[in-house]
Amino acid sequence: MAYQTVNPATNKLIKAYDNHSDADVEAALKTAHALYKSDWAKGSIDQRLPVLHRLADLIDSRVEELAKIASEEMGKLIGQSRGEVKLCAQIARYYADNAKEFLKPVPYQSELGEAWVEHHPIGVLMAVEPWNFPYYQLMRVLAPNLAAGNPVLVKHASIVPHCAEVFAHLVREAGAPEGAWTNLFISSDQVANIIADDRVQGAALTGSEKAGSAVASQAAKYVKKSTLELGGNDVFVVLDDADLEKAVKIGVQARLQNAGQVCTAAKRFILHEKIADAFLDKLTQAFQAVKIGDPLDESTKLGPLSSKEAQETLTKQVNEAVKNGATLKLGGKPVQGEGSFFEPTILTDIARDNPAYYEEFFGPVAQVYVVKDDDAAVKLANDSHYGLGGAVFSQNIDRAKKMASRIETGMVYINWLTDTAAELPFGGVKRSGYGRELSDLGIKEFVNQKLVVVHKG
Ligand code: NAP
Repeated sequence: MAYQTVNPATNKLIKAYDNHSDADVEAALKTAHALYKSDWAKGSIDQRLPVLHRLADLIDSRVEELAKIASEEMGKLIGQSRGEVKLCAQIARYYADNAKEFLKPVPYQSELGEAWVEHHPIGVLMAVEPWNFPYYQLMRVLAPNLAAGNPVLVKHASIVPHCAEVFAHLVREAGAPEGAWTNLFISSDQVANIIADDRVQGAALTGSEKAGSAVASQAAKYVKKSTLELGGNDVFVVLDDADLEKAVKIGVQARLQNAGQVCTAAKRFILHEKIADAFLDKLTQAFQAVKIGDPLDESTKLGPLSSKEAQETLTKQVNEAVKNGATLKLGGKPVQGEGSFFEPTILTDIARDNPAYYEEFFGPVAQVYVVKDDDAAVKLANDSHYGLGGAVFSQNIDRAKKMASRIETGMVYINWLTDTAAELPFGGVKRSGYGRELSDLGIKEFVNQKLVVVHKG
């Protein structure tokens, strides 16, 4: 792919970037592998954690500058970009403060003798990341692996090269040695070659099923560990005893945040029949009132999609859904004029044989379903190829907890949208992928959990 910055609010090319050659890749691999073999990676964690502390402070001191770069490159509303940048600092600080505890030896009781598990880095990793959270996705990989001592080669999405470069500079500025985090503007074939290389021990991908399957197949072929954070078709269940005002307010945010381009966005609204009409009316009014426009304008509520291609894909999906019997309750079209904007859209009457039923709509398009009871809500929620997140709204917390336990996803939030925080595990099941990022679980994905036993005999 060509690495280019195109402002999606205008569709104007800002800058094109040169790809890295195979010789550049070889040099990056050599440096990263040498770092893995050095005392910096294999020695005390105390020499690595200060880098994360400094990185957190650096990011906190540059929120405005970093936010503007992301908003111009992929269209995120400026306020949301600031939030993403601050979250990155929190993740860096979280691992700086907690990684030592997570990676300390764990004793095991055994009749064979004194036993414990140590945590060691495993080697160079290949990370492949998407554009929708152009800094946060990188930090989810960098922070735990820098703490653990795994050098990372990263291929960011081709539409966010500026964010990729800026992030890599920040990591070096914070004091990380060369090779700890290497940004590469490379093709899928080069990614495959890197994964095949003996110096590489793992691959982490966040993105679509198609890309995940390609990277994981290659990792499996060469017997490398992989983690996949893929798409979702998350439900937003509103039960008959929910606080409707709150559910609508959060529902709008859950579907329109980041112009609807969030893996854990509320993509399927499942409404109890007793409140369905009232909720749908309020949701429609709220969507109609949304101000669409320049992501750098503080008053804008919905910015552009990330690219012209994203706009075209979404348009096709909506048209196809309607052709197959769905009712277009609101919106449904690209916004006329310059930029890759799309109207807030609501689809109802989506039958199971409509292709839309199983598809992820990566944009401001809400699918609405009506059910008669909790069992029907769970059945519909679980009738999905994906299993990433989900939300349940009810004032009866016991009832909501029961439903949360029955939904087949990696995460469920009660009375809130699917969210993220440094200390909470993030990931899915089914075609949403496997493995977890963030929290204590995320840092254990690419470490050697090595058993040592002092035999009593
Ligand atoms: P995508 O096309 O899969 O792109 C993601 C990354 O994979 C990009 O860097 C892309 O590079 C690269 N890529 C694509 N095909 C590849 C291949 N065959 N080999 C190696 N790398 C390859 O994903 P997207 O459509 O831009 O991103 C949105 C998807 O990501 C949605 O499905 C969303 O739900 C998911 N997502 C999941 C999470 C999560 O944590 N579960 C978080 C965010 C997004 P190019 O840009 O050069 O094509």
